[in-house]
Amino acid sequence: MKIAIAGAGAMGSRFGVKLQQAGNQVTLIDNWQEHVDVINRDGLTITTDGQGDQVIPMTAKRPAEVTEQFDLVILFTKAMQMDAMLQQLNGILDNQPAVLTLANGIGNVETIERHVPKEQIVVGTTVWSSGLAGPGHITVTGTGSISLQAVVPDKFPNLPGLIDTLNAAGLHASEAANVMAAIWKKAGLNSVLNTYCTLFDCNIGEFGALPNWRELNDRVLNEFQAVANAAKIQFSVADVTDLIAAQFSPETNGGHYPSMHQDMAKHRPTEIDFLNGYVAKLGTKLGVAAPNNALLAQLIHSQEALRGI
Ligand code: NAD
Repeated sequence: MKIAIAGAGAMGSRFGVKLQQAGNQVTLIDNWQEHVDVINRDGLTITTDGQGDQVIPMTAKRPAEVTEQFDLVILFTKAMQMDAMLQQLNGILDNQPAVLTLANGIGNVETIERHVPKEQIVVGTTVWSSGLAGPGHITVTGTGSISLQAVVPDKFPNLPGLIDTLNAAGLHASEAANVMAAIWKKAGLNSVLNTYCTLFDCNIGEFGALPNWRELNDRVLNEFQAVANAAKIQFSVADVTDLIAAQFSPETNGGHYPSMHQDMAKHRPTEIDFLNGYVAKLGTKLGVAAPNNALLAQLIHSQEALRGI
């Protein structure tokens, strides 16, 4: 299969390597010139926890250099980069490829629908992880899985075929029963852990050790619940809170600094507008107040501004 990975940072590169090693023809597409140049010149370096480095020859291009068509486009930009990437890729979407995104945040389907008919779109969530050590260099650990669903399930041509392609690459994909509920659940978790750990400059275990972590949690998630109800999305504060509490111990994710914390530390924009910010905006549209989420989004944007982001 001819596969484009549009947004080939930490996650896109990890998925690209696995899909190429399974026999697919993979092109990494990215706007970071230095990253593209290093991959084409030296290959992609993968540092695997405890197993040292591997260098994998791969093809990388800037969006403007891409002229061929693909069977599958996997969008792995950050949520706020997706619209611009899709605009740049306009020409390669002509032969109606399947377009898949597993990016975090709510609202990605709406972004993709501005460029691609919804019958071609598949969305999901993943617990695979990856880090970007520098241009052309990712660090990976552990394994993961993917849960996905076509946006219009009875119109998408061949979801089992797409799942087979991902599974042949060892990506452990399966069809979700209710992908929007899964996306909101993950966004709920991120809107608590990512946002507070970034504001407090702490890791997940330190957040969990705060005596008032649950009150802080509920202030975010009760508003998620109200907005989800109005939007007719399945959501459970108790389920997301359990999932969050399960991350606190050192054996799970206690020592981890969430991606938003890492973005802020690297002076890169955060995905806040697709987490707390999205729920606050959707709440306004639906007549449901979400002032805590609106304030948290403003605080993160203020922190970005203070860092010149
Ligand atoms: P990333 O920051 O590694 O890459 C995203 C884009 O930003 C890429 O196009 C990349 O080239 C570009 N970029 C990164 N650093 C740059 C730099 N210094 N200069 C110029 N461009 C740069 O993002 P990611 O971690 O791959 O995440 C992609 C999506 O997947 C996000 O929605 C994220 O929330 C989600 N996600 C990430 C993980 C993870 O473990 N990284 C896990 C699950 C979901």
